[in-house]
Amino acid sequence: KKAVIGVTGLATMGRNLARNLARHGHAVAVHNRTPARTKALVTEYGHEGVFLPAETPEEFVRSLERPRRIVIMVKAGAATDAVIQEFAPLLEPGDMIVDGGNAHFEDTRRRERELRERGIHFVGTGISGGEEGALNGPSIMPGGSPESYEALGPLLESIAAKVEGVPCCTHVGPDGAGHFVKMVHNGIEYADMQLIAEAYDLLRHGLGMPPAEIAEVFRSWNNGRLESYLIEITAEVLAHTDPATGRPFVDVVVDQAEQKGTGRWTVQTALDLGVPVSGIAEAVFARSLSGSPRLREAARRLPGPSRFKLEQRFADDVEQALYASKIVAYAQGFNQIQAASDEYGWGIDLGAMATIWRGGCIIRARFLDRIRAAYAADPRTPTLLTDDHFAGALGDAQDSWRTVVSISAQLGIPTPGFATALAYYDALRAERLPAALTQAQRDFFGAHTYRRVDREGSFHTRWELPDRPEVGA
Ligand code: NDP
Repeated sequence: KKAVIGVTGLATMGRNLARNLARHGHAVAVHNRTPARTKALVTEYGHEGVFLPAETPEEFVRSLERPRRIVIMVKAGAATDAVIQEFAPLLEPGDMIVDGGNAHFEDTRRRERELRERGIHFVGTGISGGEEGALNGPSIMPGGSPESYEALGPLLESIAAKVEGVPCCTHVGPDGAGHFVKMVHNGIEYADMQLIAEAYDLLRHGLGMPPAEIAEVFRSWNNGRLESYLIEITAEVLAHTDPATGRPFVDVVVDQAEQKGTGRWTVQTALDLGVPVSGIAEAVFARSLSGSPRLREAARRLPGPSRFKLEQRFADDVEQALYASKIVAYAQGFNQIQAASDEYGWGIDLGAMATIWRGGCIIRARFLDRIRAAYAADPRTPTLLTDDHFAGALGDAQDSWRTVVSISAQLGIPTPGFATALAYYDALRAERLPAALTQAQRDFFGAHTYRRVDREGSFHTRWELPDRPEVGA
C-alpha cells in the first residue's frame, strides 16, 4: 500500500500534522532527518492510523502514490532549502512539495520559480494554530498553482479547522501568496496582543484593579463583540496564581516580550509596499522596547505625572478603545494583503482570508465574520473602516477612545497601539493633512516640486530668489 501524502520533518508541528492526517484516514508516509523521531512517532501514535515510516528520502519517495504529495515541516530558512535539494532530484514532473514552515514569501517565490522549471509544484503554505492546531485542526493558507490545489485541497481541507462546517483552508493565490497572508496574519496577531496588553495596563495601573478582577472584566468582554481566542486566554492568564509564590502569575513573568520575526517581516514588507500598518509596527517596537533592559533601566529615573483618580466607568471606555483600535489594526493588515495582491498579481479574495482565520488560528474571533461581511458587501473597499458596521462602531467608540488616549497620556501609561490607531483614524478622515507643508519643505530644499489644489501639473518655487517665482515643471 502506498501513502497519499508524506510529511518530512517530524518535530512538534510535523508530527502533529502527520497524526492529524492519519486520524482523518489518510495513509501518511513519515520521514525525519534523524530517524529516531520517525520511530518515536510510529511507536507512540501508530495506532491512530496508517503511517508508513521511511529512514531515507528514497524510501520515503517510493512509498508515495503519484503524483507525489510531500509536506516539508522543518526549520524555516536554510533547512528548507537543504530538504528541497535532497528531495527534488527524486521527484518527477507533476509532483508537489508543500512547505508548511514559516517561510518568508520572497523565499517561497524563488523556490516556486526554481521548482516550476523542473515541473514540480511548490506550494508555500501558511499553517496557523501552533502545536494544538496542527493536531486538531489548523487554519491553512496554501499558495502555489491552482492545479496543485486541486490535488491537495481536499486533503488539506479535511484536516483544517471547521467553523459552521466551513473548512479554514482555501487556495490563497499563486507562488508566495499563502506565506504572505500567513505573515500578515502573524503581524495582526502582534497588534491584537499589544492592544490587549494596553487595555490590561490601563485597568491595572490606571484604575488600580488587581489581575483577578481584570480577568473578570476580560471574561465579560469575551461575551460581547470582542469574543476571541486571545481575549479568552488573557482572562485565563490573569486569573492564574503563581503556585510558588501565591502572587498573580502575570507579576512573576519578566516583562520582556520576545519575537521570532514574522511581525518584523510584516512591517519591513509594508514599508516596501508603502502601506501604513502603524498598529503592527507599534506592536513590534513595543516588544523591542520591552526587551531593552539597559535603556529602560537608565530611563527609570525620568519623572512621571502626579496621580489622579479615575472613575470605574473608565473600564467601559477602555473596551471601546480596544474595539476601535482592533478595527484599525485589522483594516491596516488587510490593506497590506490587498497591496501585495495587486503588486504580485495574486488576486487574493480578502473576504475568504477572513473566513479561513475564523478557526484554528490565534486570531480566531467572532469579529472576522464582520470582516467577511464587509468584503462581501464591497470587495474592493479601500478600507474596512468605512464599512457600515465598522464606521458605526468607530463613531460610537470615538469619544471613549479619545478619552482613553488622553487620560493614558496624563497617567503616564504608554498606549502606543491605541494612540497610533486613533492617529490613523483621524489622519484618514482629515479634510487636509499637513503633508502639504512636508511637500513644500521638500520643494524648498530639494526642488522636488509639488502639485497645486487649483491647477493640473507639477510646480516648483524658486525659493532662492527674493520674489519666489513659481515655475511649472
Ligand atoms: P523546528 O522549527 O524546531 O524544526 C525542527 C525540525 O527541522 C526537525 O524535524 C529537524 O530535524 C528539522 N531540520 C532542521 N534542519 C534540518 C536540515 N538541515 N535538514 C533536514 N531537516 C532539518 O520544528 P517545528 O515543528 O517547531 O516547526 C516546523 C516549521 O513549522 C517551522 O518552519 C516553524 O516556523 C513552522 N511553524 C511552527 C509553529 C509552531 O507553533 N511551532 C506554528 C506554525 C508554523 P532533526 O530532528 O533531524 O533535527
